[in-house]
Amino acid sequence: MKEQNFLDNLVGVFGHPAAENPGVVIQEAAFKDMGLERWRFLTIDVDPGKLEDAIAGLKAMKMKGINCTLPHKIEVLKYLDEISPSAKLIGAVNTIVNDNGRLFGDSTDGKGFMESLRNAQISPEGKRVVILGAGGAGRAIGVELAMAGAQHITIVNIPQDEKMAESLVDILNTKTKTKAEYIPWTGDYKVPAEAHILINATPIGLYPNVDDKPNVDYETVRPDLFVQDVIPNPAFTPFLDEAKKRGARWNTGMGMLINQAAINIKMWTGKDPDKEVMTKAFKEVIG
Ligand code: NDP
Repeated sequence: MKEQNFLDNLVGVFGHPAAENPGVVIQEAAFKDMGLERWRFLTIDVDPGKLEDAIAGLKAMKMKGINCTLPHKIEVLKYLDEISPSAKLIGAVNTIVNDNGRLFGDSTDGKGFMESLRNAQISPEGKRVVILGAGGAGRAIGVELAMAGAQHITIVNIPQDEKMAESLVDILNTKTKTKAEYIPWTGDYKVPAEAHILINATPIGLYPNVDDKPNVDYETVRPDLFVQDVIPNPAFTPFLDEAKKRGARWNTGMGMLINQAAINIKMWTGKDPDKEVMTKAFKEVIG
């Protein structure tokens, strides 16, 4: 007799807002393709201040793991039993594995980002990089770029939360060979002539604010600059449109999203998903 097991294996994402997060589209497409019939990816809106309750719920429901997106990536650290060395350096976690109540946190955003950069045939070695934003994504990207040999990283962040930017700059300067500086973000940021790569690591432009773009003096975006957005939804943003109009090379946040999701699936299920299946599902739904 065929075994009857209707128990769902639950993973998902905690975020706020969460509704625009396209993780479910690519994760469930991968599960289906892999024959993981009873794996479910839940998109869960967790208010700031309610993360502790959400983590207790995750344990109570024996969820296999969870992704954390804004604003929970840093806050969640205090609820974890173990953190990977790179996540410790980054100071943020986006993927958690629940091993029978013991929570292990890792940061796969930066790794997914680096793979996306490699696929665009951009090497960060010896390059001067500007990162807009110093939150979870900005920190992960900054640390991975430094570990990959970027020569100089400028962190541009709004001065309301300069401690975040300063702590990232301090980590890069003291724990890696990369030189880093913090520039307070006031008015339209002028991209330095010597910069090679410009990255938007803020949520500006994320659905539903699809017409927004970071305050940058876009006249300083040159054709030899490589411009990268982290925004996964919509795939093409006004920020990238400005880069395109000025003849710069550009890359969307889709590749980073697919790559990090593939790493997460491996961590949760032990199996490698087909990224082409995930990309196809993303394009069908998000465009
Ligand atoms: P965080 O909230 O941790 O960090 C956001 C950063 O952007 C902070 O430095 C914040 O500054 C800054 N910021 C926010 N709003 C503004 C604004 N209006 N002007 C200037 N700076 C601003 O978020 P995450 O780093 O987790 O996520 C950022 C974006 O990256 C999100 O849109 C997310 O969807 C995307 N992302 C994409 C991934 C992908 O795979 N493509 C993976 C991970 C994230 P402050 O702290 O001072 O408010």
